[in-house]
Amino acid sequence: IGSQTYGAPGIRWNGDGLVPAIVQDTDTREVLMLAYMNEQSLQLTLESGETWFWSRSRSELWHKGATSGNTQRVDRVLYDCDGDTLLVLVRADGPACHTGERTCFFRELPPAEERQDKQQGETPSLGGLVPSAADGTNAASTAQAASSEGAGRFAVLAELERVIAERETARPEGAYTTYLFDKGVDKILKKVGEEASETIIAAKNKDNAELRLEVSDLIYHLLVLLQERKLPLDEIMAELSARHERPRRD
Ligand code: AMP
Ligand code: ZN
Ligand code: ZN
Repeated sequence: IGSQTYGAPGIRWNGDGLVPAIVQDTDTREVLMLAYMNEQSLQLTLESGETWFWSRSRSELWHKGATSGNTQRVDRVLYDCDGDTLLVLVRADGPACHTGERTCFFRELPPAEERQDKQQGETPSLGGLVPSAADGTNAASTAQAASSEGAGRFAVLAELERVIAERETARPEGAYTTYLFDKGVDKILKKVGEEASETIIAAKNKDNAELRLEVSDLIYHLLVLLQERKLPLDEIMAELSARHERPRRD
């Protein structure tokens, strides 16, 4: 069903008139990103030789790289057996991801057997912190919360706050967060200091892979500190928005 373009007769647009488009590097075949195209953006892509999408969060046509300069030159546009997915082969002029990563797929879920808090002395991975299937919640909603699209962009912070609060109450054995709460506020403060130092070192070394990890560690420990002090993340957010609304000269 769905409308048909003269330029793309085999494409089956979904109910919103969109089709998912996987963007892949022509040479390395690395998968760079997934976004949606409508009829017009596909036409613009074919005509201009650069990728155009439909932004579902902004509800507008989106020329990839318009603001970042990271455009993608299109070599070929393939579509799959049943016409519900496009594969766009490109040469990218820069990172595909708005985070600055080359590909959007730079995060990985841990294998099932590692989906528990790590042992003492180790910083837990996000996979260990977010509730696993065994906690009675489902992993798909967690992945959705962590998605960078639209309003859910920072939802993972709220989820992390919730899980940390749960850990403080339940104190599950072997959980790193339990270990921190058992040790007390001085241990938590020491970790905040360490992770801040490591953040500085990673930044000085211009090592963004390391910086990503250290900033994540720092944010996690700050959230543990806020929970220990009973200062809700909402208050931090409110303070940040208040500053944003009345910008000061500095
Ligand atoms: P750009 O098209 O690279 O100039 O980026 C403009 C905006 O589009 C960014 O601020 C993001 O909101 C969004 N964006 C860019 N690249 C991606 C991507 N790979 N996935 C999702 N959103 C993106
Ligand atoms: Zn298909
Ligand atoms: Zn991305």
